[in-house]
Amino acid sequence: MGHQACSDAMLIHFTGFIMAHCLPWRDLWHELMMCVPGNCPLCLARTPAAWLCEGCSQAVCGSMLFGGPRCQVCALLLDRFGGCSDCRHKAPEFHSVVAAFDYHFPGSVLIRQFKQGRRYLLAATLAELLIPRLQRLQAATSGATILVPVPASLPALRQRGFNPAGEIARHLSRRLSLPYRNVLFRSKEAGPQKLLGRRQRYERVQSLYGLRNSASLSGCHVWVVDDVLTTGSTLNAVSHLLMQAGAASVHGVVLARTPLSL
Ligand SMILES: [Zn+2]
Ligand SMILES: [Zn+2]
Repeated sequence: MGHQACSDAMLIHFTGFIMAHCLPWRDLWHELMMCVPGNCPLCLARTPAAWLCEGCSQAVCGSMLFGGPRCQVCALLLDRFGGCSDCRHKAPEFHSVVAAFDYHFPGSVLIRQFKQGRRYLLAATLAELLIPRLQRLQAATSGATILVPVPASLPALRQRGFNPAGEIARHLSRRLSLPYRNVLFRSKEAGPQKLLGRRQRYERVQSLYGLRNSASLSGCHVWVVDDVLTTGSTLNAVSHLLMQAGAASVHGVVLARTPLSL
């Protein structure tokens, strides 16, 4: 069983690497992935390409899809007056957020496996949950769209060996045939954010990021890709840079959205 899972994972990785570098083969690569058997990462049921099974997909995405009306901009649940208390105070510079699920159980388990457990192949499984909604956004957008991952900090890169946002963006790029560009960089390093309060995070992140080759962004719709959106401070800071560089619009594309109460 363990040996089988290992060879499945190696086959998926090898096939993905070969096909990702041949643009005309993207669709074939996806079809091929669907023929490779794997296991649902939550319940271990046999599934194509180790995607989530139907039941686990619903358990992970259910609250986002059916949990009540959401803010059109930041994807938080609206308050009882039909407004978004977060956007009222922050005036976001991004235009919308597409999130696959709320950051709580069982989706949080998958995020931990992906990041702390360094299971980078989960990027494809999790990013796949975003595809139907991104296809709708893509169809409603005219003009060039590019994917831009949020860069990881150096300590996180050293610890994990990969940038989670980069792996998600790579999968979305293959599936949606959209270009993917590493134009964002960290202009300085800061300590971990998770111990800070919302206001402290917001203030610290303002000067954390920079932009290279900004001329190439002029007139483009930019989808900023990250794993989890918590306060929106990172997305807001990079949206400011991207809009200053002439982007037509900026949308956050994340696996998980942290509910306001956490
Ligand atoms: Zn399952
Ligand atoms: Zn909002």
